[in-house]
Amino acid sequence: MVKKRKILIPQPKSRFLKVVCKVCGAENIVFSHATFPVRCKVCGTILARPTGGKAQILRDRAEIVAELG
Ligand SMILES: [Zn+2]
Repeated sequence: MVKKRKILIPQPKSRFLKVVCKVCGAENIVFSHATFPVRCKVCGTILARPTGGKAQILRDRAEIVAELG
């Protein structure tokens, strides 16, 4: 009998993050794997910048307050 190796079902690691802009205090929903610079919807500050994979949240300008889905 052939042993079946357990295959892990790949789950997407991407999620939406709720971040608060430290400049104006507005809440913004940011996709964790954004491929474009994320700007605050109110003041236009760039809150995250794309990398090869996961977007980098600019910690001095934005704070993650919640992870959604
Ligand atoms: Zn802002």
